[in-house]
Amino acid sequence: MPNCVFCSITKKEVPAEIILENDQLVAFKDIKPSAPVHYLIVPKEHIQSIAHLEGNHKEVLAGLIYTAKDLAAKLGLKGYRLVFNVGKEGGQVIDHLHLHLLGGWRNNGGEHLPHPGL
Ligand code: AMP
Ligand code: ZN
Repeated sequence: MPNCVFCSITKKEVPAEIILENDQLVAFKDIKPSAPVHYLIVPKEHIQSIAHLEGNHKEVLAGLIYTAKDLAAKLGLKGYRLVFNVGKEGGQVIDHLHLHLLGGWRNNGGEHLPHPGL
C-alpha cells in the first residue's frame, strides 16, 4: 500500500527498532511510547484494521497474539496489556493493523494503570 508507514517499515524502507521478525510480521518499538514498554506487532500484509479482517486472516491474527505473548515473556513482563485500536473513532491513527504491547508499569497490582485509551 503506497504511503503506508507500517508497510514501509515492514519493507525496511523506513527505519524502526525492530526486535523480532518472521515471514508474517514484524515487531518494533513504538516511536512515542505510551508505557515504559511499548511495542507494535504488525503484519507484513496490509490489512487496514480489525474491522477489515477476512476469513483467510485467522493465522495472521493468531500470529500477532502469540508473538505478543512470546515477546512479553522474553522481555520479562509479568503482566501487560494488548490493545487494538479500531477505526478513527476507536483511536486508530495508522490505517495498517497493529497490536500494541504495553507494560512495564511499576505497580503490578493493576491499580493506577492508565485508562485503556492510549
Ligand atoms: P494507533 O493510534 O493505534 O494507530 O497507533 C499508532 C502508533 O504508531 C502510535 O502509538 C504511534 O506512536 C506509533 N507510530 C507512528 N509512526 C511510527 C513509526 N514510524 N515508528 C514507530 N511507531 C510509530
Ligand atoms: Zn500498510
